[in-house]
Amino acid sequence: MHIYDDAVFTMACDQFQVIADYLNIDKNDRDRLMMPKRSMAVTLPVHMDDGSTKTFQGYRVQHHLTLGPTKGGTRFSPDLSMGETAALAMWMSWKCALNNLPYGGAKGGVACDPSKLSRNELEAVSRRYMQEMIPFVGPHTDIMGPDMGTNEQVMAWFMDTYSVYQGYCVNEIVTGKPVSVGGTEGRRESTGRGVVYLVERAMDMLKMDPEKSTAIIQGFGNVGSVAALSLGLKTGVKIVGISDHTVALYNPKGIDVKAADQHVQKKGNLRAFDEGDRIDANEMLEMECDVLVPAAVDRVIHEKNASKLKCRILAEGANGPTTPEADLILNKRWDEVFVIPDILCNAGGVIVSYFEWVQGLQSYLWTETEVTDKLFRILEHSFSQVIRRAKADKVSHRTAAMATGVERVMKAKVARGLFP
Ligand code: NAD
Repeated sequence: MHIYDDAVFTMACDQFQVIADYLNIDKNDRDRLMMPKRSMAVTLPVHMDDGSTKTFQGYRVQHHLTLGPTKGGTRFSPDLSMGETAALAMWMSWKCALNNLPYGGAKGGVACDPSKLSRNELEAVSRRYMQEMIPFVGPHTDIMGPDMGTNEQVMAWFMDTYSVYQGYCVNEIVTGKPVSVGGTEGRRESTGRGVVYLVERAMDMLKMDPEKSTAIIQGFGNVGSVAALSLGLKTGVKIVGISDHTVALYNPKGIDVKAADQHVQKKGNLRAFDEGDRIDANEMLEMECDVLVPAAVDRVIHEKNASKLKCRILAEGANGPTTPEADLILNKRWDEVFVIPDILCNAGGVIVSYFEWVQGLQSYLWTETEVTDKLFRILEHSFSQVIRRAKADKVSHRTAAMATGVERVMKAKVARGLFP
């Protein structure tokens, strides 16, 4: 059995092969580009509140080291596997390269359900995970950040643990930290804001009026809630559907997303939020709307529902929400559904993480306006490149985006050569 055996890793490899065919990459070079450079699996024994000791499995995958250190989020989720982590690391590589960031992709995490851990247990898991990873990470080796199930507090514990072991403060070891310990203004909102910036650009291209448009958002965590608030309150789009892992809510008259956000901050999820009709979570994706934002888990748009999507814009806030089988269907529907692919759509997070890392290395802090302005400039450049390439080569937006990323990594590998 392959250590990366997992449906998500298979999906990432299948996507890569499509791009490798389009770029005519020699068969000899494909594995070198696709397979992770280094992968770590660690066992984390942790004292639980009830006096027992529980062991958790942790992972970190560094996909390639060709362009600089690796960079990637940390996911705490019950079913996390080495294969899923490797797929996410591979997507990070193409995302960083597409946006010209000097990183290889990485990803890591712990197989655990953070909602079932007390604060003390969550801190113990976080600190133990970082402690086990100390030999493999560093500000010039591999920089961690947040992902599903982790937040600013977890990043602060990572940073503290690493710093205690080094004997001095190393805040550039993680990004997505609280501002009080060297985090960047606007990092928490950066992914959702980036999603909305690109949705606005797509609406502009498609001559859609935001004030007359509706949106449905799957996932109401960091990415989904900020995207909902920004789309609803700043852009003027009516949010008619929201969901999380507990419930899906639909209201054609519009949902009060500010109230939903306040509810989640207090209660932790949307379960008891009393607005709109409770509907089937899968059906919600197929409902009539102008903008659909999957901002939760992977593979939610697949061959069974891709032909039923009724959105005009599919803005992929999550990583890997669309399977290659669904892509084949959406490619045929290119004039009905405008896809903003994940490695472009949710790149705001890693772009601002890059700013945070640079600021940490230089002990220098930028204002939120500077950060957001620089973020939008990079996204604008990447968006234009993707649209231009897709038009010129008559390929999908995903192919154009991934090909740009893969090509940059390949050029760097060719220039550096094969050692020895
Ligand atoms: P989060 O943990 O803050 O929130 C996840 C949300 O998804 C929660 O509301 C959860 O209830 C919901 N959810 C989980 N399973 C679900 C399901 N089956 N159906 C509907 N909702 C479900 O995570 P996040 O940071 O917002 O990440 C969401 C996605 O965005 C992930 O795919 C992540 O990899 C991607 N992403 C995050 C960032 C970032 O900066 N946080 C950056 C780029 C991409």
